[in-house]
Amino acid sequence: MGSIRSRLLASYTLVILACLAVVSVAVLLFLLRRSFPEQQMYLDLAAKSQAVLFRPVADELLRKQPPERLAAALQRIADTQQLRVILAESSGRVIGDSEDALTGHNLLEEAQLSRQTAEVIQGSFRPAGTWQRWLFVGRPIPPSHTYWFIVSRRAPRLPVFQLFGENMLSPLVQAGLLGLVLSVLLAWLISRSVARPIQQTAAAARAIADGDYDQQLPLSGPAEVRELASSFNQMARQVKASQQAQRDFVANVSHDLKTPLTSIQGFSQAILDGTAADREETQRAAGIIHDEADRMRRMVDDLLLLARMDAGQLQLARQPVDLVELLAGCVASLEPRARQGGVTLQVDAVAGIPPLNGDGDRLAQLFTNLLDNALKHTPSGGRVAVTLEQQHREAIVAITDTGPGIPAEQLERVFERFYRVDSSRARSQTKGVGLGLAICKELVEAHGGRIAAESVVGVGSKFSVYLPLADSAPTLAHRR
Ligand code: ADP
Repeated sequence: MGSIRSRLLASYTLVILACLAVVSVAVLLFLLRRSFPEQQMYLDLAAKSQAVLFRPVADELLRKQPPERLAAALQRIADTQQLRVILAESSGRVIGDSEDALTGHNLLEEAQLSRQTAEVIQGSFRPAGTWQRWLFVGRPIPPSHTYWFIVSRRAPRLPVFQLFGENMLSPLVQAGLLGLVLSVLLAWLISRSVARPIQQTAAAARAIADGDYDQQLPLSGPAEVRELASSFNQMARQVKASQQAQRDFVANVSHDLKTPLTSIQGFSQAILDGTAADREETQRAAGIIHDEADRMRRMVDDLLLLARMDAGQLQLARQPVDLVELLAGCVASLEPRARQGGVTLQVDAVAGIPPLNGDGDRLAQLFTNLLDNALKHTPSGGRVAVTLEQQHREAIVAITDTGPGIPAEQLERVFERFYRVDSSRARSQTKGVGLGLAICKELVEAHGGRIAAESVVGVGSKFSVYLPLADSAPTLAHRR
């Protein structure tokens, strides 16, 4: 019962059986309502009553009034016509019955009449002490109309079920069998079209689990199947991309750790085996070892921060932050470096910007990082400008420099982890590992904002940070 095919077959069979049951009940109800055979029988009796009555039989009947002769005459008609024949007064009192059981009873009172006019009576009766129903039709005997001449016959026993059994059952069973054959065929066809994509998906999923990430399903078939295939393909692409990213990540980390480790090893070796003979050279070697270790520590710090953000473990200590104050602090701490590098550092903040609900330390880290980059890349005599403005419910902080700029094709990748613009020069000049902007992006996004970079080679770069402001001003918060 596990496969789609058998389930489909079972449900089709159930549907067919249900349909047949409904049809059978409908036919039965129809027959019961119409009481088909009884109707036929009444028509028959009506014709018979007329036929018998128009013979001189009636006159004879009336003439032969003595009860025993009347009974004999009735008996004769009954025998020749194969009917029960009853004679009753107009009041309904039976004065003669070929079966003899009703004499003395009042038929009009005891019977169930389905029709009663001056010209005809029609109905059924059940003689006392029996289960047999009799159907009858009576006519008044002309010309006096003082007697009813009644012909009667046994009502067919369970007529409806018999009729149903004889006429309906076998076509219904045939229809059921035909339906069953059709449903097997349909189940087979449908299960093929439903099960095949599922089997394909399962096979592709197994292949991915085994490390073959180049799995793409065909986008064909019904809408749901196409949707499944397209979601699956998207998932496969993402798995592949994330596997690739993981491999790149490990490769990058190893590479970036190897370089400082090699130089640490080299210079410590020089100290150990005395190649760095005098104090000055030992100092230089120790200085390099110190710098490289510092670089590694910074990289490991960055990696740990990214890992914590990836794992959703970085909790932002959110509180109202005054951006003007925060930016002034960041600029002040970098002012000496700017002065040293001969770079003008300017802040231009619009007043009256409402506080931002964020983590002050992380935001300071974000802007310091961006300012640090700008200062690193801006040559002496250049300018780094920080602007703060508000647009709708967003604060926009832009950091613009007059550095070398970033080529367009590289600009869109600067937020990727380990991505470095013109890596050889950048690394030798700045010793960065390409994690700074990736961290900035994560920090901005953790605050519900976004970051964008614009740059013109030879003119400078601009990094804009858009941060949503606290969505309710303090007054509103009180009112709520
Ligand atoms: P790193 O930590 O190595 O500086 P980032 O992620 O901060 O890495 O930056 C990525 C790349 O973008 C770096 O290679 C850097 O050269 C370049 N970059 C970042 N900011 C600027 C800027 N203001 N002007 C020119 N290049 C920049």
